[in-house]
Amino acid sequence: MLRTVSCSASLTSASPFFRQFRLSYSSLSPSTSSALRVPGRNLRRVSSPPSAGRRVFLRRGLRVPSAADRGVNRQLSRLSVRAVATQPAPSYPDVGQDEAEKLGFEKVSEEFISECKSKATLFRHKKTGCEVMSVSNEDENKVFGIVLRTPPKDSTGIPHILEHSVLCGSRKYPLKEPFVELLKGSLHTFLNAFTYPDRTCYPVASTNTKDFYNLVDVYLDAVFFPKCVDDVHTFQQEGWHYELNDPSEDISYKGVVFNEMKGVYSQPDNILGRIAQQAISPDNTYGVDSGGDPKDIPKLTFEEFKDFHRKYYHPSNARIWFYGDDDPLQRLHILSEYLDMFEASPSRDTSKIEPQKLFSAPIRIVEKYPAGRDGDLKKKNMVCINWLLSEKPLDLETQLALGFLDHLMLGTPASPLRKILLESGLGEALVSSGMSDELLQPQFSVGMKGVSEDNVQKVEELIIATLQKLAEEGFENEAVEASMNTIEFSLRENNTGSFPRGLSLMLQSIAKWIYDMDPFEPLKYTEPLKALKARIAEEGSKAVFSPVIEQFILNNSHRVTIEMQPDPEKASQEEAEEKSILEKVKAGMTEEDLAELARATEELRLKQETPDPPEALRCVPSLNLSDIPKEPTYVPTEVGDINGVKVLRHDLFTNDIIYAEVVFDMGSLKHELLPLVPLFCQSLMEMGTKDLSFVQLNQMIGRKTGGISVYPLTSSVRGKDEPCSKIIVRGKSMAGRAEDLFNLMNCLLQEVQFTDQPRFKQFVSQSIARMENRLRGSGHGVAAARMDAMLNIAGWMSEQMGGLSYLEFLRTLEKKVDEDWEGISSSLDEIRRSLLAKNGCIVNMTADGKSLTNIEKSLEKFLDLLPENPSGGLVTWDGRLPLRNEAIVIPTQVNYVGKAGNIYSTGYELDGSAYVISKHISTTWLWDRVRVSGGAYGGFCDFDSHSGVFSFLSYRDPNLLKTLDIYDGTGDFLRGLDMDQETLTKAIIGTIGDVDSYQLPDAKGYSSLMRHLLGVTDEERQRKREEILTTSLKDFKDFAEAIDVVRDKGVSVAVASAEDIDAANNARSNFFEVKKAL
Ligand SMILES: [Zn+2]
Repeated sequence: MLRTVSCSASLTSASPFFRQFRLSYSSLSPSTSSALRVPGRNLRRVSSPPSAGRRVFLRRGLRVPSAADRGVNRQLSRLSVRAVATQPAPSYPDVGQDEAEKLGFEKVSEEFISECKSKATLFRHKKTGCEVMSVSNEDENKVFGIVLRTPPKDSTGIPHILEHSVLCGSRKYPLKEPFVELLKGSLHTFLNAFTYPDRTCYPVASTNTKDFYNLVDVYLDAVFFPKCVDDVHTFQQEGWHYELNDPSEDISYKGVVFNEMKGVYSQPDNILGRIAQQAISPDNTYGVDSGGDPKDIPKLTFEEFKDFHRKYYHPSNARIWFYGDDDPLQRLHILSEYLDMFEASPSRDTSKIEPQKLFSAPIRIVEKYPAGRDGDLKKKNMVCINWLLSEKPLDLETQLALGFLDHLMLGTPASPLRKILLESGLGEALVSSGMSDELLQPQFSVGMKGVSEDNVQKVEELIIATLQKLAEEGFENEAVEASMNTIEFSLRENNTGSFPRGLSLMLQSIAKWIYDMDPFEPLKYTEPLKALKARIAEEGSKAVFSPVIEQFILNNSHRVTIEMQPDPEKASQEEAEEKSILEKVKAGMTEEDLAELARATEELRLKQETPDPPEALRCVPSLNLSDIPKEPTYVPTEVGDINGVKVLRHDLFTNDIIYAEVVFDMGSLKHELLPLVPLFCQSLMEMGTKDLSFVQLNQMIGRKTGGISVYPLTSSVRGKDEPCSKIIVRGKSMAGRAEDLFNLMNCLLQEVQFTDQPRFKQFVSQSIARMENRLRGSGHGVAAARMDAMLNIAGWMSEQMGGLSYLEFLRTLEKKVDEDWEGISSSLDEIRRSLLAKNGCIVNMTADGKSLTNIEKSLEKFLDLLPENPSGGLVTWDGRLPLRNEAIVIPTQVNYVGKAGNIYSTGYELDGSAYVISKHISTTWLWDRVRVSGGAYGGFCDFDSHSGVFSFLSYRDPNLLKTLDIYDGTGDFLRGLDMDQETLTKAIIGTIGDVDSYQLPDAKGYSSLMRHLLGVTDEERQRKREEILTTSLKDFKDFAEAIDVVRDKGVSVAVASAEDIDAANNARSNFFEVKKAL
């Protein structure tokens, strides 16, 4: 989990049916290790539209965009459960009525749910009314979650601050942050907390039963008995406080949530989503921001905060979920211990969410957002239309029809609403588009950004006209068939990536259960899906979907149109307002007050920086080294050869699905073509052939496969100068459709024509919009890429295809598309010729043994059609950006600060202990200094064992130079480290937890391919594991020497506001070269 970026607005759409099938192609995202760079994938991740009004705050805000967070985002947008249950209900251990009664529970209902092959029982705790869903099955990845209904009355962010704070120590675990201790030393496969607009969720998961129950106990104690309600310091640290280091200085605001939300309010897409949600439901709890508006957060008092906990964090207002292969009776034992301590409370009634009454006429809102001064501001408007679909809950079949409709209209590049809007040229990209039903009332939004002033109205008209046209004419049969297959495939595959299946089910169930509806219903979709399919077959798709579009959208007067205009003054205005408030606060204070504030600031800082005493740390339960398997997980791999091409086969149970990757080498690609590669990949997917339009080609992929994607991948290879640089074509299908899969791959690779200039132009402007969004939302990723590009070749290649250099390239390319399309088109052809060849190609396949044999013929045919050798000779990659400290200017209220260096340059040789040490630096030194006392949302480090680059990064950081100083202190921190055996053991176990992260079969096959490409052998993995397990304190001290290279010779890159960069350059004589980006 250390490796997860939690962009608060992107973890959305935990809806059971809506949006779950969206972006099916990008669902083929690779589960790479952190070191691999997949710029194309990063772009795609950023591309998924942040949704209006649906936002969830994750507790942890960490790390460079990695496969892990893509997994979470993606999985939440396509939650699904298994479609087929061919076996009879297996018998799982049961809890008898008597046993339940003895523990204080009554059984409310019980069902076998064939969709997820689980026996589910709903219990009610008799004394408090707390409800418990106990789900038993064979899944070893066990999940626990406790969910409370927490509707806020204002935008001070109470639920969000409380979500952070309850994990900062409790009755049984009285240390600063038990949550961090669990992050450090458990085998969790999931550990986090989310704040929704109306509820707060605390989920954990683990495959190790002992570990699992440890996690459950810490979470239960945290929720019901947190220290934060008696300790104003936690409230100040996580929420807000005045900071004054010296009475002569200015007062400032500090607080983790405060800065997290400043980051959120620096992103136009996020601002739009928030305004939309508040405007669409102005009369209930959704009319305010549960995350907290930075302007309102400082209005929150400690009294209100305590009161909110007392009111809503009560068993009577809680819903608890257990899932997996553990003993269901044990679950009730654990719970009764906590729940029995409470009496019933009225909180369940007081937390009820009232529905928003539907408007009788549409409304329109115009707002401003903070923009940079560069570029053509006239073209930077945003507009979106939002509908609240219904006042009352919808039946399952209607929900399913809406989800289906969503996929049909917007799900793929070929979907008509998406396609027509993008092809109109009226805007750069879609914003906040799609259905959502995770709140009480379902809603639908669609809109565009990058719209010029005079086109705003045209966008609105086009949206309405297109919806009318779809209602009148219906959808093509091929499109309906493609959507149906995509939906059924995703249900059958039930691929939740790195996200536990049990958690995905919990979020589906809770989306109804939280509103006192049936928790079982959202899990049982087979029958309604069958019914819907039958209706489409009998009456035709038009008869099914047209009335839905008319009733819920076109004839629905509850419509809110939002227009957002760029305002280059807004960021500095807001800053000035904050400053003037703080000046007034200071002016109103006496000298004694100021001295007292300085003293309190120091007291808080001291408290934050004082480590927990060993006896406090000891109370957090942990595993022993003897609980840890001594060997890494091996993936069955057979390396063979078909017609001279290397083929890797992984015999794993995949529920009759095959996963295939075809890898081509970039060794013959001309340097100047490199930045075109991501657009080349997109063109393959979205341009069409001589005989097939891209729409037809996409529909065919949807009808016959589970999706295909193409993306570049680069990484350093340890001990080699030449980087690994590949293009990966990834696809999946039912085993019986392997021939179709390979035929379609061949069609994409060999027959697509690069002739559609207008489409290509769209790709370029969409990519610019995505990169600009990425700079604001994931500036730490941009900074990391930039530093990597200075330090190694693979990093340089990756930055050319996905960093700031790429954005600069795109801006020039945008003009060139009109002037020299011929040239660009022939460059795209040249890229194809330099890649496509049997020579240098590797194929990776994951399926069960029988399927692997059956698909051989189709694969052979596919390989035969490839040219023998690439055109053009081998090139040598040697690019790097000049080494220098850079500050990239963007309009933002918070910064991203990085520093990196190559520790292999000191002669350091890789040892498994490096993983333990870098994790420890992240979870202690950086967490305490950058986050806890620095007030940033995240501070962490990353060690790329392939290149040797060690990077420090911060996320939504109010500081700049101060953070760099903390990074520079890391060596001394290690030298001065004193650590008892227990702490060390925890660090080792936590690292093993990361190394052994839970993987579904496709991810196992893919990881094995990555190891093959990067030359990591099973022997080496075994050796590294032994080194991890035997890490000593001496290793930490020795590592200090290596890490000093970052301090002494490292480079710094910050993505920050103009004001902060000016201040830094004044304070440290032009330390940064300044680069304007937005
Ligand atoms: Zn948060």
